[in-house]
Amino acid sequence: MSHSHAHPPAKSGKAKARAHSHAVDRKTHLARAEAQCAEAGETLTPLRRRVLELLLDAGGPAKAYDLLDGLKSVDGAAAKPPTIYRALEFLTRLGLAHRVESLNAFVACDVGACARATIFLICDACNSAEEFDAGHALVDVSEAAARDGFTIERTMIEAHGLCAKCRAAA
Ligand SMILES: [Zn+2]
Ligand SMILES: [Zn+2]
Repeated sequence: MSHSHAHPPAKSGKAKARAHSHAVDRKTHLARAEAQCAEAGETLTPLRRRVLELLLDAGGPAKAYDLLDGLKSVDGAAAKPPTIYRALEFLTRLGLAHRVESLNAFVACDVGACARATIFLICDACNSAEEFDAGHALVDVSEAAARDGFTIERTMIEAHGLCAKCRAAA
C-alpha cells in the first residue's frame, strides 16, 4: 500500500520515527481546525482548542483521563471528565480527532481533518498509531455496501501489529 500522506522528516533526531510525525505543524494544524469548524458552522471554543492542543502534544493515542491534568493547568480549576468527553466528542464529530476504539483513546487527526475513512496501524509494543488516509483502500467496502443498499458514512479500521521501529528492536 502506498502512503498517501506527505510525511516530512521530523524536525529533531526522530527522523526514523515516522509513526508520530505529523504532516503539518501545530500552528497550521490549529488554523485548519478553526477553518474546519467555521465551515461546519461550529466554533472551536477555547476549551475545544485546548483539548486539541493536548492531543497534538501527546503525539499519539491519549486517554481522555490523561488529558484532564493538562486542562487543569489552563485556568487552575479542575476540569471534569464530562467536560473533556464533550470536547472530544466534538473534535471526533468534525474529524479533527479520531477515537481509537481498541485502545480506548483519542488521537489528533494526522492531516487536520478526515471524517470518512481512516485506517490506523497500531503498534502493540509502543502504542503508536499511524494514520493512513484510507479512502482509496475502502472504496471496495463502500461499493459492496452500496450494493446492499447501505450508505457508509464513516469507516475506521484499526490494524494491530508491530511498527517498523519496534520490529527492528525486537
Ligand atoms: Zn484523520
Ligand atoms: Zn512500535
